[in-house]
Amino acid sequence: MKPAPFDFVAATSVAEAVALLGERDDARVIAGGQSLMQLLNFRTAQPGTLVDVNRIVGLDGVRRDGDFLAVGALTRHAALEAHPVAREQLPPLAEVIPYIGYAAVRHRGTIGGSFAYGAPYAELPLVAVTLGGEVIVEGAEGRRTIPIEEFFLGHLETAVGPQELVVEVRFRLPAAEAGFGFREIAPRRHDYAIASAAALVQLDSSGAVGSARIGVGSAHPTPIRVNTAEETLIGRRPDAVALAEAGQAAAAAIEPLGATEADRTYRRRVVAVMVQDALAQAIERSREAGS
Ligand SMILES: Cc1cc2nc3c(=O)[nH]c(=O)nc-3n(C[C@H](O)[C@H](O)[C@H](O)COP(=O)(O)OP(=O)(O)OC[C@H]3O[C@@H](n4cnc5c(N)ncnc54)[C@H](O)[C@@H]3O)c2cc1C
Repeated sequence: MKPAPFDFVAATSVAEAVALLGERDDARVIAGGQSLMQLLNFRTAQPGTLVDVNRIVGLDGVRRDGDFLAVGALTRHAALEAHPVAREQLPPLAEVIPYIGYAAVRHRGTIGGSFAYGAPYAELPLVAVTLGGEVIVEGAEGRRTIPIEEFFLGHLETAVGPQELVVEVRFRLPAAEAGFGFREIAPRRHDYAIASAAALVQLDSSGAVGSARIGVGSAHPTPIRVNTAEETLIGRRPDAVALAEAGQAAAAAIEPLGATEADRTYRRRVVAVMVQDALAQAIERSREAGS
């Protein structure tokens, strides 16, 4: 199928894009088009106007800002993966980005689009949920900062208003002694994941778990941080039994998505394994960082 007719306006500033979103009936932003074009072609989305943000100078870019890595909404996945500041300040990004679709998707798709779309399988939102972060949006009333824990509201539903533009995504930088781990399983490499997990672990001087943050993606309506799994680990030696218990706690915390490629029971089982494996990697790296 082909898209239903729409008006197309290329904004050249954030202010112009925000004004267009406010003025036009049923207007929708288009950035990389990697998710939206499918919706348009299937006529699942029929916006009256597309507001193209690709020509807005300064909406992309990467910089350190205090305790955060700040990424402009128009930054492409591939540009973020290669960016020297991102590689130095937050290596997990370059580690995770190759899991996002194919090279063409990563060269067109944007960080702002990925967060605004709110797909549960998206890797970078999972990283932000796990590390901590915030999203800055701009609307007619000005800018507001949305903590990441308040950003993903439901399946493909976020806290971005219909007349707001995502302008920046901010990832909290972990402590140098913390180790990061990531695992995902997909039917084929580059397909949407069936389940993914990320973990950030810091060991204390005795080798026990001092702090742990665990996130799960692709298996719940939103990327989700699983505090109950984290709590099972604190103060414990991270042996195989402790990791298995954390995996089980994460599996119990999700409301698994059902789909042809993975039913709910299977998804719970692989979530437990992904969490265990991500934790094992994070713990190993935390040991290396502390030694
Ligand atoms: C074959 C294929 C495989 C893929 N695999 C993966 C994968 O494994 N992991 C993954 O994370 N993603 C995957 N994607 C999606 C890809 O990452 C998209 O780039 C991303 O989800 C959306 O970014 P975009 O810039 O293309 O947004 P668009 O498609 O342009 O827009 C997506 C949505 O976000 C809104 N939007 C875009 N930018 C803004 C903004 N600045 N402010 C407010 N709203 C905005 C749009 O209105 C629309 O609703 C895949 C896509 C394809 C086609």
